[in-house]
Amino acid sequence: MKAAAFRRQNEMEIVDAPVPTAAPGDVVLKVHDCGICGSDLHACQYGMGMHAGSIMGHEFCGEIREIGAGVDGFRIGERVAGLPFAFCGECDRCKNGMAVHCRNLKGLGLGQLPGAYAEFVACPAASLFKLPDSISSRDGALVEPLSVGLHAIKRSRLRAGMTVLVMGAGPIGLATLTWAKGKGATVVVSEIAQGRGELALRLGADIIVNPRVQNPADKVRELTGRDPELILECIGIKGTLGEAIRMVAPRGEVVVVGVCMETDEIQPLQGILREAEVKFALAYDPADFDETIEALANGTIRPQPMVTDIIGVQQVPEMFQALRHPGNHAKVLVEFPQ
Ligand SMILES: [Zn+2]
Ligand SMILES: [Zn+2]
Repeated sequence: MKAAAFRRQNEMEIVDAPVPTAAPGDVVLKVHDCGICGSDLHACQYGMGMHAGSIMGHEFCGEIREIGAGVDGFRIGERVAGLPFAFCGECDRCKNGMAVHCRNLKGLGLGQLPGAYAEFVACPAASLFKLPDSISSRDGALVEPLSVGLHAIKRSRLRAGMTVLVMGAGPIGLATLTWAKGKGATVVVSEIAQGRGELALRLGADIIVNPRVQNPADKVRELTGRDPELILECIGIKGTLGEAIRMVAPRGEVVVVGVCMETDEIQPLQGILREAEVKFALAYDPADFDETIEALANGTIRPQPMVTDIIGVQQVPEMFQALRHPGNHAKVLVEFPQ
């Protein structure tokens, strides 16, 4: 089968890989769609311990083709989305609902287990979630990134009616925005790229501010008469966390969702002056997948505008190059012919 794999830093390649078979506890999926994630781009850029030939791709939706020994509750042909990791279910962290912090976690698509930029992928049945017929496979591939946005919101004190600031309208910012709207907030999005700002509007953002033109906190004050009480930092480049801390209201909250790979600086005084609370959010809990699937099924969230490109697996290497300067691209889906 054709698959897109890591070759060396900053380079992906198309490889011919054997079709996986289902080990006990696993199923094999025929992949329908798999999203390209910022983490994939980071992993490809920095290597992050991946060996050459690692098949990447972790935001997937597919249909069950083979079921391993000891797996109950799944049928051939069912469509599923999956947590992109294997977890033990036994450790203290798993038992507390934090599978992503499992002490025995094995990631899928980032070097440990082969990922879903491939016609077929093997994954643990325990990591899979069934999709109802009303959810398309393209939306199914968005369950993972949407769950990132949901988890960030659930880490915060967001409540309906609140005005929140989302910094950045890349895929994570758009997913977070989608959920902030789904939970009834008024959302100001700060974004430099005009195309991404327009996507944010299509996903329900109330106001887009170009931070090079206007301070986003001023816009929130215009709307509410108060400073931003919740800022969701979805950019993750050097300096943006410090900016968020300087904009947040006294005793307000900053949730860091964007992944900054460099050492960053903040001025603690700025946080102290505001008694700011800064929290970090990583991925999602299994329960977030359930909630995302339910919200897609009943139409509480409608994320399709965040998809800007649908490509074949052969185009993955060139798309990784293009996404080093994302411009107006947001979520790119790799789709396999059915
Ligand atoms: Zn991802
Ligand atoms: Zn565990």
